[in-house]
Amino acid sequence: MVQPYKHEPFTDFTREENRNAFLKSLETVKSYLGQDYDLLIDGERISTDEKIVSTNPANKEEVIGRVSKANKELAEKAMQAAVKAFETWRKSKPEMRADILFNAAALIRRRKHEFSALLVKEAGKPWREADADTAEAIDFLEYYGRQILTLKEGVKVQSRPDEYNRFHYIPLGVGVIISPWNFPLAIMAGTTVAALVSGNTVLLKPASATPVVAAKFVEVLEEAGLPKGVLNFIPGSGSEVGDYLVDHPKTRFVSFTGSRDVGLRIYERASKLNEGQIWLKRVIAEMGGKDTIVVDKEANLELAAQSIVASAFGFSGQKCSACSRAVVVEDVYDQVLNRVVELTSELSIGNPEKQEMFMGPVIDQSAFDKIMGYIEIGKQEGKLMIGGEGDASKGFFIKPTVFADLDPKAKIMQEEIFGPVVAFAKAKDFNEAIEIANNTEYGLTGAVITNNRAHLEKAREDFHVGNLYFNRGCTGAIVGYQPFGGFNMSGTDSKAGGPDYLLLHMQAKTTSEMY
Ligand code: NAP
Repeated sequence: MVQPYKHEPFTDFTREENRNAFLKSLETVKSYLGQDYDLLIDGERISTDEKIVSTNPANKEEVIGRVSKANKELAEKAMQAAVKAFETWRKSKPEMRADILFNAAALIRRRKHEFSALLVKEAGKPWREADADTAEAIDFLEYYGRQILTLKEGVKVQSRPDEYNRFHYIPLGVGVIISPWNFPLAIMAGTTVAALVSGNTVLLKPASATPVVAAKFVEVLEEAGLPKGVLNFIPGSGSEVGDYLVDHPKTRFVSFTGSRDVGLRIYERASKLNEGQIWLKRVIAEMGGKDTIVVDKEANLELAAQSIVASAFGFSGQKCSACSRAVVVEDVYDQVLNRVVELTSELSIGNPEKQEMFMGPVIDQSAFDKIMGYIEIGKQEGKLMIGGEGDASKGFFIKPTVFADLDPKAKIMQEEIFGPVVAFAKAKDFNEAIEIANNTEYGLTGAVITNNRAHLEKAREDFHVGNLYFNRGCTGAIVGYQPFGGFNMSGTDSKAGGPDYLLLHMQAKTTSEMY
C-alpha cells in the first residue's frame, strides 16, 4: 500500500550538519564540472560534434558541462524510437510506471543536495531556492505516481441489464516536452514524468541554458528502470529542433513551459495539419506572468512589505509567479513602499555558492541586457527608489530594484521583465486596486494582503488569476497543495501538481459490451 502523499520538506540550513552536507555536495559537483553529456535515443548514448556549452551565470568562465546537441536528423531518429516504444509502453501496467517514479524519487532524495548544488552552479540559484527546486521535483514524482494509481480504473459509468459499460483513460502517444531554465529540475522533471506515467513516450528538449541538470535527471530515470526508447533526451536549439518536433506529424501532444511568445508560436504551429498527421495535436502551454500583490489599508503592513520583497526578489525575480507589481491603497502606500525599500537595502547579492546570499545572478547576457533595458524604461516611467544597477563583468548581477509611482498602464507595469524589478502603483481604494491588478493580458498569480473579509471575498471572485494567495506572497506553490497554472496569456491553466493534470496527457475511451 502506497503511503499518502506528503510534500518533501525544505532543508533547514540553520543546522550545521545540513550546511556541511550542502558544502560537500558543492564539492561533489565541482569534481565533475566540464564533462560531456550525450543524447539518449532508443537507449543509445549519442555524442555529437556540436555542443551546448553550459556555463555558470555567477562566473561566466566556469563551464558546467558540454552537452551534445540534436539536429533534425537526430530528432527524427528519436521520434521513430518514441513511436516504436509507445507500442509496448502504452500497455505497461500503471503500477509499474508509478513504481519507476517512486524509485526515481528515492534516488534523487538520496542525492538531494547534489542536485541542488548543481542548480546553484548551473542556474545561479541561492541555496534555499535550489533546495526548493529539488524538493519540487521529488514532489512531482511522488504525486504523479500516486495520481496514476487513482486514475487507472477510469470512472464508473452506468450500465443496464445485459450491458456493461466502461470508461477509462488511455495514453495519447508521443509527447514533446519543452522546458524552461528557471525551474530546470522541477518543471523539466514534472512535465516529463507526467507524460511518461500516463503511458506516453517522450522526446525531452530541455532549455539550452540548463541542460546538464536535465542530463543528470535522465540518468536517474534510466537507473530507476525506464525501458529504452520511452524517454529520448534531445537537447538542441529551440528554434531549430523545437519547430521540427512541434510540426512533426507523429507528435501527438506538446507540453511547453516558457515565454508567452514561444508558447504562442507553438500553439499556432501545432494547430496546422501536416502530411501524414491524423489527429489534432494537444498543447499544454504554461507561459509568462505579470503578477501583482495588492495591499489594502486594513492590513498587516509588515507582512505586506515582507511578502513583496520575498516574491519580487527570490531567485532574482526569475519566476513566472514573481511579484513584479505592487498595487497599494493610497492610505498606506508610503508606509509600505518605504518599508519595502528598507528591506530591499538589506538584501545580500553575490555568488550563490555562499549560503548567506539572498540573491544570485540572472541567467545570462541576454536576460541581463533585457532587464537593464527595462530598468532604463522604468527610470523614464517612474521614480527609482533603490537598485537600478547591474554588473556583468564576472557574472550577471543586477541589484534588486524598486520603482514607485507608476501609471498602471506603464510599460514596466504591463510587460514581463523576468528580473529583480518591482513597480509600485497607487490605488484610491480596494476596488480600484483589483481593477489595476487585472489590467494586464496575463493571469498567473496574485496575492492580496488584507484583514477585511469582504475584500478577500471580492478578490476571490474578481481577481482573475490561476493562483490567488491571501495574506502571503505570490510565489512558492507546492505540488498537491496549490496546483499551478494561469489564465489568459499565462497559458492553458493546466494546473501542474493538481488532480486533473495527468488527464491532459490521456484520452478517455468508452467500451460497451452486450452479454
Ligand atoms: P523560452 O525562451 O520561451 O524557452 C522555453 C523553452 O522553449 C526552451 O527549452 C527553449 O529552447 C524552447 N524554445 C525556444 N524557441 C522555441 C521554438 N521556436 N519552438 C519550440 N521550443 C522553443 O522561456 P525561458 O526563458 O526558458 O523561461 C522563462 C519564461 O518561462 C518566462 O516567461 C516565465 O514566465 C515562463 N515560465 C512559466 C511557467 C508557468 O508555469 N506558467 C513556469 C516557469 C517559467 P532554448 O532554450 O534552446 O531556446
